Amino acid sequence: MNPTPPPDRAASQVPTVVWSYRRTGKFAFHVLTGALESDPARPAPPIEFAIGPDHVVRAVRAALAGGHPVLVGWSFYSPDFLAMAAELRAMRAQIEDPRVLHVAGGVHATAEPLATLEAGFDLVAVGEGEHTIRALVAALAAGQDPRGSQGVAWREAGRLRTHGRAPRTDLDTFPPFAPAHGRVGPIEITRGCIYACRFCQTPFFAGARFRHRSLASIRTWLRALVALDLRDYRFLTPTSLSYGSEGPEPDLAAVEALLAMAREEIGSRRRLFFGTFPSEVRPEHVTPQALALIRRYADNRTLILGGQSGSDRLLERSARGHDAAAIERAAALALESGFQPHVDFLFGMPGEDADDVAATVALMDRLVARGARVHGHTFLPLPGTPWRRAAPGRIAPELRRHLLTLASRGQLYGQWQQQESVAHALAGRQGVSGTPGTSTLPS
Ligand code: SF4
Repeated sequence: MNPTPPPDRAASQVPTVVWSYRRTGKFAFHVLTGALESDPARPAPPIEFAIGPDHVVRAVRAALAGGHPVLVGWSFYSPDFLAMAAELRAMRAQIEDPRVLHVAGGVHATAEPLATLEAGFDLVAVGEGEHTIRALVAALAAGQDPRGSQGVAWREAGRLRTHGRAPRTDLDTFPPFAPAHGRVGPIEITRGCIYACRFCQTPFFAGARFRHRSLASIRTWLRALVALDLRDYRFLTPTSLSYGSEGPEPDLAAVEALLAMAREEIGSRRRLFFGTFPSEVRPEHVTPQALALIRRYADNRTLILGGQSGSDRLLERSARGHDAAAIERAAALALESGFQPHVDFLFGMPGEDADDVAATVALMDRLVARGARVHGHTFLPLPGTPWRRAAPGRIAPELRRHLLTLASRGQLYGQWQQQESVAHALAGRQGVSGTPGTSTLPS
């Protein structure tokens, strides 16, 4: 893409937006691009999706050569923070220009704004980004100080200054992606989560309440995807069977209305996915009725279940809101209905002891014996969560051997080994306390 500004904005201050675009988190950039595309107050500024530092530098130089300010947007998860800070330093060594504004957003920057600013970013977009990106572009276009925008934080005399979080987004008033830029993805149908799992950043970032996109809005964006003749259609939500519900009880009528409408829109030759990547299902929501709906309307025959542990003690301690029996019941029901369950497990949660590990291993073994697969994770003390200062997850040699055996049979997959190193790096940055979550099998 050519980032050179068009001639009709040559005399203006309309910024070029350069996304430091990465595979992880790319959908966040699509959402922000959609917010700019749909801004009723002004046309979208030129936007570059720059992959890698060299591309970002080229895009920034080209925009500066046109005499315009540049907003470089960054969004990253906590494990990537140090790498992103290093990329920023390298970039600043090549281009240090007051017309370039480096803005970091997303869950990590929101949870750790001061540390993010100290790493060299000019501004942090605190909270959800749709309103903030519009406000920042408007401020730059008007030649105003972007620090006046709601939802930003900055550093002044070494201290954090902020106007607080951006307003929460009404999903219906923003697109879920950016069709005009050819950047699409899953349709976000629900944001926020009423559950409060102690390891999870979602309720902290997006609030402890469900905000659902209406059927009318989902229909609009399904049609936009159908116009591109995509084959696969997916939804984004923290908990698939919570669509339309305000509380813990699923509203299956709302789920059916969603699935029936989606099927009607996409027709029979395209594929609809529900309760699988990139969204999962809570085990206690799995019933024969819910499974029948998914079978009737969706094409996936895998189901992603949030399990996390075989230990009732740890499930309660982590505030998951279900017990281990619910996981086993959900997996059994799924298998009976012709789905292969992929069950998420989280190893090394704070306070995990040998008995907890034994319970988890026993549950994983029973599940895989019936035909389920395990998706393994290692506990990360993530900023913004109640367990941010807990000890990083560790996996003892005996458990590691067991997990590797499951993996060698194709019964387990996931990034659990890499996450163990990441967990220690994270904990080293933010200090730890409490009992280490050491995954050890009983001797
Ligand atoms: S883990 Fe899932 S259910 Fe729990 S708080 Fe996070 S998004 Fe909600």
